[in-house]
Amino acid sequence: MTANANQVVDSIAMLSREDYRDIALYAVPRGDVALDLSDNTNLWGAPPAALRAIAAGREESISRYPGAYEPALSEAFARYVRVSADMIACGCGSDDVLDSAIRAFAQQGEVLCLPDPSFSMIPVFARTNGMVPVAIPLTTSLEVDVDAMLETGARIIYLCTPNNPTGGALSRDTVERIVERAPGLVIIDQAYVEFGGEDFIDLARSGRPVIVTRTMSKAFGLAGLRVGYGVGAPELIAEVLKARGPYKVSSLSERAAIATLKSERTWVGERIKEAVVNRSRFRAELKMRGIDAFESAANFVLAPVTDCVALASRLERLGVRVRALPQLRGIGDSIRVAVGPWEMMHHFLDALEEAT
Ligand code: PMP
Repeated sequence: MTANANQVVDSIAMLSREDYRDIALYAVPRGDVALDLSDNTNLWGAPPAALRAIAAGREESISRYPGAYEPALSEAFARYVRVSADMIACGCGSDDVLDSAIRAFAQQGEVLCLPDPSFSMIPVFARTNGMVPVAIPLTTSLEVDVDAMLETGARIIYLCTPNNPTGGALSRDTVERIVERAPGLVIIDQAYVEFGGEDFIDLARSGRPVIVTRTMSKAFGLAGLRVGYGVGAPELIAEVLKARGPYKVSSLSERAAIATLKSERTWVGERIKEAVVNRSRFRAELKMRGIDAFESAANFVLAPVTDCVALASRLERLGVRVRALPQLRGIGDSIRVAVGPWEMMHHFLDALEEAT
């Protein structure tokens, strides 16, 4: 490289924000694999009405912009969770809603408190929005430490129930104690609530500063369409939408999500029931193999193992992908395995036998 080109590279590096420099790009697995159990999506596939809605999409759905803030989809979610449409903010996945909610209420340099371990994107969203993430370890029984979280005086408290990656659900008492005493906003991430645990939408309706986030990516089988939503008081939602900006959900995604909510509740419900049955059966099978997976209220199971990275790469060579989570706080090395149709779990168990 010439001296000049080196200078250009240096000046580009100088441009990067100091507080961004050590944030790593979210590591996504690469390449195809025969059985992917790493991302907790719906392993039965997509609801038929969503596929039909996409196939029937008209040209305007592609050539024109969608509604800026998805009025029809907001109405559909509002009916689904029994709130008014001004209490709904849609997003490009619930990631987008979480990011926008944090941005809307972030004061530079203030604390966002979250449990550890929990959803790995939250500290990133906190930092990219100028906040300081403070992670409070879960207790030995994997409950959140209410007092320690409140003592941080955080402007935003993030809770996740059922929690990713432990699968544990928070009790109503725990969540209510936090909501009642929190000095700022409480975000309750319920990406996996369809599979178990309490529904906390009532707290979003209570007039308190609470936003509950949900997604169509897991139980509803629409991860590729990127649709999520947040529920909260109209005054909170208006701020979230400002931070989010217009046109974040594509017309085709909106059509498919509405069709799913309207006519696929039974399809979704049956897949959920099957996931719940397979989850217990899968934990029992792991136990017979000497692996004590945590109880889970989600569509995945977290299993402590020795050297999770080595195990995950042996499984990957056998065509099975799981999520390796090295050195989780208070838990140690673990793998997270999504639960799907039993043939898939059987396939995983065969691969596990070969890999160990
Ligand atoms: N919250 C939790 C706890 C998650 O595990 C995920 C996905 N991994 C999300 C939110 C974001 O999902 P999406 O953007 O697909 O709605």
